[in-house]
Amino acid sequence: MADSGFSALMQRILACQTCAKNLPQAPKPILQADPCATILIAGQAPGRRAHDSGVPFDDASGDRLRRWLGVDRATFYNPAHFAIVPMGFCYPGKASGGDAPPRPECAEQWHASLLEALPNIQLTLVLGRYALAYHLPQYQRSTVTEAVRQWEDVWPLYLPLPHPSPRNQAWFKHNPWFEEQVLPTLQAQIQRLVSI
Ligand code: SF4
Repeated sequence: MADSGFSALMQRILACQTCAKNLPQAPKPILQADPCATILIAGQAPGRRAHDSGVPFDDASGDRLRRWLGVDRATFYNPAHFAIVPMGFCYPGKASGGDAPPRPECAEQWHASLLEALPNIQLTLVLGRYALAYHLPQYQRSTVTEAVRQWEDVWPLYLPLPHPSPRNQAWFKHNPWFEEQVLPTLQAQIQRLVSI
């Protein structure tokens, strides 16, 4: 259950207008957090669909991510288990080849205080290169593939993951070791953490 300090922080985030001039729509922060959460999903930024619905990962990427984790929707959307904290909380709009990068102001302004307010996180799932640069800066010069391949170096506190987007189909096809070697260990740890 969130305490009043945490609730006040969330209210400030939800009212944030910092990059209003640089977003295609009015700011609409989309995240899920509760001080009880034991697993942090550190992603990139909400897409247009999440912006419209207000629900993160309510799409094919989320379906794949939940399958990787071995959890149903009820568990995934239980903030006492999973915190969903992307590098940018608001939909950043389009850029060539996909969505624009997360607004850099967001991590600068909010991440330190929000992560400090999540003291029970035991595993951080790091999705994509922006989250990798923030949470695992030792991989800053690595590709996401190289970071995922070295997953055992940071396990069990962190796990670098490829983005579960259908756009990444070629990556999944070329890296079958990921599903074979990484996911069984991940799923066992997730089951342990959601049972605490
Ligand atoms: S992206 Fe982050 S910093 Fe920018 S308006 Fe949204 S909540 Fe505020």
